[in-house]
Amino acid sequence: MNKAVLEEQLAQLPLYTFGYLSPGELEFTQRVRWVCRQECPMYAKSWACPPGVGSVESCRDKCLSYENCLMIATVTEVEDISDISQTLATRPEHEELTNQVGQLLRDQGVEPYILSTEACQICRRCACLDGLPCRHPQKMHPCVESHGINVLPVLEKMGIEFQYGANVVTWISLLFY
Ligand code: SF4
Ligand code: SF4
Repeated sequence: MNKAVLEEQLAQLPLYTFGYLSPGELEFTQRVRWVCRQECPMYAKSWACPPGVGSVESCRDKCLSYENCLMIATVTEVEDISDISQTLATRPEHEELTNQVGQLLRDQGVEPYILSTEACQICRRCACLDGLPCRHPQKMHPCVESHGINVLPVLEKMGIEFQYGANVVTWISLLFY
């Protein structure tokens, strides 16, 4: 892969930042899975979420089967971050950028495995709820947290800081290749 070309293209996109990491640097933990189960209303309601994505161990094995990982981040300011509708309204743009970056990798002959934000919203009702297979497995991106990934330590290690006002929404995607 030609990293210089990729980075030139990434620099044209409205990303806050991007960086490379080794999948082995990521922390996979049952604690994140516990938070999904206890605190997120999407648990067991999407193929992008646990338990549909499989065990933390199998998710970890999948991620570690790739040599590299590209992290991309976007930030958007909203009026009131405690208003979940305002926060979620910033998500589609991040998802679109994630797809664009995925295509940049494909253009270089690399097929990425992409983890992105929240539960997949491609279909109005996820097939998971009806016990049916995912309708768009090539297009959907499991949530980063679904794989038990605690991304903060590795971001810290990469020297990436998110220091801005209280009403700034940050989204992260990981593209394994
Ligand atoms: S593509 Fe449809 S069926 Fe698959 S995870 Fe997304 S919403 Fe569910
Ligand atoms: S994977 Fe993401 S959207 Fe799904 S239950 Fe966990 S935190 Fe919620």
